[in-house]
Amino acid sequence: MRSERISRVRQGLQDMQLEGVLFVHMPNIRYLTGFTGSEGALLVTGGAVVLLVDGRYTTQAREEVTSCGIREFSDPVAGITDAVRKERLSSLGFEATVLSYDTYRRLAENLNGVRLHPLSGEPAAIRSRKDSGEVTAMKRAAAIAASSLTGIIDMIRPGAVERDIAFALESAMRDEGSEKPAFETIVASGEHAAMPHARPGSRKIEKGDFVVIDYGAVSDGYNSDETCTFMVGEPTTRQRKVYRIVKEAHDRAIEAVKAGASCSEIDGRARSVIEKAGYGGYFSHGTGHGVGLEVHEPPRVSSRSTEVLETGMVVTVEPGIYIPGTFGIRIEDMVLVGESGGEILTKMPKELTVL
Ligand code: ZN
Ligand code: ZN
Repeated sequence: MRSERISRVRQGLQDMQLEGVLFVHMPNIRYLTGFTGSEGALLVTGGAVVLLVDGRYTTQAREEVTSCGIREFSDPVAGITDAVRKERLSSLGFEATVLSYDTYRRLAENLNGVRLHPLSGEPAAIRSRKDSGEVTAMKRAAAIAASSLTGIIDMIRPGAVERDIAFALESAMRDEGSEKPAFETIVASGEHAAMPHARPGSRKIEKGDFVVIDYGAVSDGYNSDETCTFMVGEPTTRQRKVYRIVKEAHDRAIEAVKAGASCSEIDGRARSVIEKAGYGGYFSHGTGHGVGLEVHEPPRVSSRSTEVLETGMVVTVEPGIYIPGTFGIRIEDMVLVGESGGEILTKMPKELTVL
């Protein structure tokens, strides 16, 4: 499995006429080697794969990584310089969106004569098509998340504090086997839910509130990402109507998910439903994103995206309507792209649930 991934990197090197590539972004290094430490560097060339770690991680790397050489360094720049020199490279790609300017500057000084080539989208794109093991891990994460939310759902009632619900949900996910929360859990109620990325605060839930819960679990390093919007007490006609619009946008976009569909087309499916209903100005973000070892990774599902869906990609579909000072609704599922359609990996029902 790892060797197949390394072969793909090597194919990319050939296509770009590079002799080697340096990875410093840990999700990419984990994907290619299995190393789960929080710092390190990976050099891949046509003939060699070398993982560079500092002394804190040597033992861990030896346990986790069997498919490549491991070298210990005390200074990362010196370690990378030595490895590149040893491989006698004349060109080297690097992750331009991750490598710090300071490291870049020092490497450029040390590696005089080596052509340093910035890569932006390519390194993370190697992870965008998931294999069956990765999909299994994401399904497990989604199942943990859903059973945890189901377990604490009775807490969502008038008088409950947002922050307490978020805390209870995160503890429940840990109890059910999540390595950590995939990201800081969002619990946003009433007018607070009109901010798409609200942090849970001290607001108490009231009768008549929508409560947006955006949450995820982690299994084997793989994240889940899902959003449910619950209604506390009977909805008004307007609340019912706006929920129906978001749900319709979500459903139409998911129906269009399949290999060959463009990401901008998926976004357009959701967006046109909301625009036609007259709420276009209240849908202020892209429709979705790739998920995997990172919560946000390629492809981007937005109107400006130029990417096309491929079999094995996992993307979210998460339209929302946010009316400032009033309420917010978002409905998010994680979808596995197949040849002729999508498979929803997240587990919670998305019909309007009145608590
Ligand atoms: Zn989310
Ligand atoms: Zn998301």
